[in-house]
Amino acid sequence: MADRDGVIWYDGRLVPWREATTHVLSHTLHYGMGVFEGVRAYKTARGTAIFRLREHTDRLWRSAHILGMKIPYEKEALNRAILSAVRENRLESAYIRPMCFYGSESMGLHAKGLEVHVVVAAWAWGSYLGEDGIVNGIRVRTSSFNRHHVNVSMCRAKANGHYINSMLAVQEAVACGADEALLLDTEGYVSEGSGENIFIVRDGTLATPDLTSALDGITRDTVMRLAAELGIPVQVRRITRDEVYVADEAFFTGTAAEVTPIRELDGRPIGSGTRGPITEALQSLYFDQVHGRRDAHPEWLTLVA
Ligand code: PMP
Repeated sequence: MADRDGVIWYDGRLVPWREATTHVLSHTLHYGMGVFEGVRAYKTARGTAIFRLREHTDRLWRSAHILGMKIPYEKEALNRAILSAVRENRLESAYIRPMCFYGSESMGLHAKGLEVHVVVAAWAWGSYLGEDGIVNGIRVRTSSFNRHHVNVSMCRAKANGHYINSMLAVQEAVACGADEALLLDTEGYVSEGSGENIFIVRDGTLATPDLTSALDGITRDTVMRLAAELGIPVQVRRITRDEVYVADEAFFTGTAAEVTPIRELDGRPIGSGTRGPITEALQSLYFDQVHGRRDAHPEWLTLVA
């Protein structure tokens, strides 16, 4: 990733990609206390647009607030940084990674006297779980790793260190021949994927777990609103692993993963074992929405130009 052309917004300046470096004693590199976002820009008929920019920036600020980090910019400045990272790299569509991390002023867990640095990188990134996954669905395994307990780390924060748990889970799932992991909470109820929220469909009704141990996903929120528009009821409640086994359909949502059908959990086909009709309807509405092909929710798209 480091050796390429382009620019990265780094503490208020656009710097050449290869020069966007930091010291090896940067605090976040050692202890993982940092916050970040994953944002996407899509090509629309009116030009490239960021999807739900304000919501991503708001979540970054909430994440920092939870961890007690003070971001040294106004939200508007970060929004402009995100727009410039896409524009200056001449990207028609992009994955965008804003991140706030502590510098190398001191070491130690008290994190005293540390500067908060902010970067925004943007690059072209296709379907996170593969084009085939978007159409035909992916194979998922229940992880032997539980999702964070709220009193171990706080899931409302999209924090760098939380992703050790996600990586352990997804690496295990892939080693077992699956595409993605499903993590249960510490009580054994369904929580989320390593980087996605989960929905199931049963008898025409959607259900998704509450946010006790899952990230407050912006795609989750988008899909819930789109479901309401289609007249599909949505329940937010505890879900058990066997409920997923016997669901008619299941899918993951995430900025990177978009809307990805789950065709199998733990070797058991879900429903027809392929993308289900409600998943397909929501997925297609989602893609229409992010690509600006609908009149609804114009406030969700911020043009880059
Ligand atoms: N859960 C986790 C653990 C994630 O990393 C993500 C990706 N940000 C999501 C859920 C989905 O969130 P969003 O739809 O806001 O991208």
